[in-house]
Amino acid sequence: MTSPRPCSALVGSPPDLRDLGGAGLTIGKTFTFEAAHRLNGLPDGHKCGRRHGHSYQVTVELTSDELVGPGFVTDFGDLAPFAAYLAEHLDHRDLNEVLTVEPTSEHLAVHLARWFLDNVQPGIPGRLVAVTVSETSKTWARCTVGNVA
Ligand SMILES: [Zn+2]
Repeated sequence: MTSPRPCSALVGSPPDLRDLGGAGLTIGKTFTFEAAHRLNGLPDGHKCGRRHGHSYQVTVELTSDELVGPGFVTDFGDLAPFAAYLAEHLDHRDLNEVLTVEPTSEHLAVHLARWFLDNVQPGIPGRLVAVTVSETSKTWARCTVGNVA
């Protein structure tokens, strides 16, 4: 019986990503929080006009053409400030009291992308490319971030 060949990425020099056409690598991490909201401006009887809650999922995606450390786009541990922001300011809150705009998934994705760019991006090697917010398992809104560096 022969032993399996080691993955070439795990031995020798780090892989050169340039031969992939500059596509780079993307990583993602999903965070969760629970919150309530109510949407104004909807037709009478629209269910989203009633105060209700969601188990929100927020996924941030980061990209880089170069890896750092043992082979990371960004150490997932460096995203701790984002998790702390969600826990402190959004978890078990009324989003109508937190945001200055209607708390739709779309507005929340933009708000979180801006917060990430202002507070996390300056300290990490990877570049934020998107923030996706899901209220349910079947719906999501994605804020795509351009190269603002
Ligand atoms: Zn809702």
